[in-house]
Amino acid sequence: MNENEFAKGKAFAKGETFAKDTAFAKDTAFAKDTAFAKTFAALRRRSGITQRELGERLGVSNRAVSKWETGLALPSTENVYKLAKIFNVPVDYFFGSELQSEIRDEPSPTGMKSLTELYLVGRGPSSSHTIAPERASRMFREKNPTADRFKVILYGSLAKTGIGHGTDRVIKATLAPVSCDIIFNTTELDLPHPNTMDMIAFRQGAQIDRIRVVSTGGGRFENDKYLLPEPPDVYPVSSFEKIAKECRANNLRLWQYVERAEGSGIWDYLSEIWRGMKASIERGLADEGILPGGLGVQKKAKQLLCREHIDESAETRENRMVCAYAFAVSEQNACAETIVTAPTCGSSGVLPAVLYYQQKKRDYTDMEILRALAAGGVVGNLIKTNASISGSECGCQAEIGSACAMAAASLAELFGLDLDKIEYAAEIAIEHHLGLTCDPICGLVQIPCIERNAVAAMRAINAVSLASFLVDSRKISLDKVIHVMKETGLDISRQYKETAEGGLAKLKFGQ
Ligand code: SF4
Repeated sequence: MNENEFAKGKAFAKGETFAKDTAFAKDTAFAKDTAFAKTFAALRRRSGITQRELGERLGVSNRAVSKWETGLALPSTENVYKLAKIFNVPVDYFFGSELQSEIRDEPSPTGMKSLTELYLVGRGPSSSHTIAPERASRMFREKNPTADRFKVILYGSLAKTGIGHGTDRVIKATLAPVSCDIIFNTTELDLPHPNTMDMIAFRQGAQIDRIRVVSTGGGRFENDKYLLPEPPDVYPVSSFEKIAKECRANNLRLWQYVERAEGSGIWDYLSEIWRGMKASIERGLADEGILPGGLGVQKKAKQLLCREHIDESAETRENRMVCAYAFAVSEQNACAETIVTAPTCGSSGVLPAVLYYQQKKRDYTDMEILRALAAGGVVGNLIKTNASISGSECGCQAEIGSACAMAAASLAELFGLDLDKIEYAAEIAIEHHLGLTCDPICGLVQIPCIERNAVAAMRAINAVSLASFLVDSRKISLDKVIHVMKETGLDISRQYKETAEGGLAKLKFGQ
């Protein structure tokens, strides 16, 4: 819809309520029609815009938006035109049955990518705010070898928490020695994704290239100009139910299913990943001092490792050690050191902590650990494919909740539990993170992120214990919880999705 059409719509309506507008409906009969409500709700969810965010854009309360979705009220004609513009659909789209069925029947993903797309070695503190911008900058630099200046405009979450996450620093370092101006645009709301940036290249004052990049989570990015080779789906299905069916039919454990799909080369890759995880723990345990960023947060991994209580029980010791390992990785991440995404940088401490503790305590071989990583990877992949692993898309439930589910599945595999128990452990782990918000203080991946990794590591261990006792009485599948996680994430207000505008992030430090 162009501006003229929009203006026409404004003149047409002049603030009258949509229900009164005879061009669209015959008085109150239309108000009773739920077609608009269903289509509107589906479009809003698909766009990822929350009710509150939409309300802010239209200058109405989120309660009003909620009423439109439930069919209790209808927007003014002016707002219908605005909604059509926001969702990039014709106005008629709201009333056509064809569209509604298209949205309701939105196809589920058919397959999943390799675990080599999930576990990545890179520098923290954020897969979406540092790893993906670094990769995008490298690509843009290679596409423009003659550029003598770059400009990068950060929007949405990248603008709001970019300084705390070091997005500007990593972009400048990657584009160096060519100079780069970074603009933080926090006012633009009409974005294709919460993590959007524009990259512009100049030569002798003239613009020679411009692309729009979105950082889609877990270190991956897309852009609107250069065709990047799309990694193939190596898994033919994307639900735990179907994977379990295949495993049962062929008497496979999850790691064997992974090997079948990925080929035996996956073990070399996972071996490198495990080396990276162990290295980040060991570096973190040896590190001391204050984390960068200005919050004055002390590194505590070494303290946790060394401060043994005189009468410490075995359970307390286990908690202390697991937390020490989780702190070690998370503190390295906060220092922008090299870690492994599992599934993201912010949540990179959970899975290594759980597996490292078990290897130390029970002498599991590296191969047994790699098999556990494969099982946890399947769960992470399912969440990434069917929901999100991005804090800016779905809140911290998508990062720490996913990491906890991966750790629980890995541990259950390590313990040799059956498929039902592996699924149940992962389901418990993610279920009790539903709704968890992302609210990092000052946009730094420190408070609450570091402790949150430790708590999730302990929770993963508990989830496995609970699953092994209660599996026969479970009612909810992992696939269903992943679906609910996505729905919940879409409904979480923007302030709680890596914008550092809500929750703990609103506290002045020290309060
Ligand atoms: S609060 Fe959670 S999602 Fe947000 S930055 Fe911290 S770890 Fe990542």
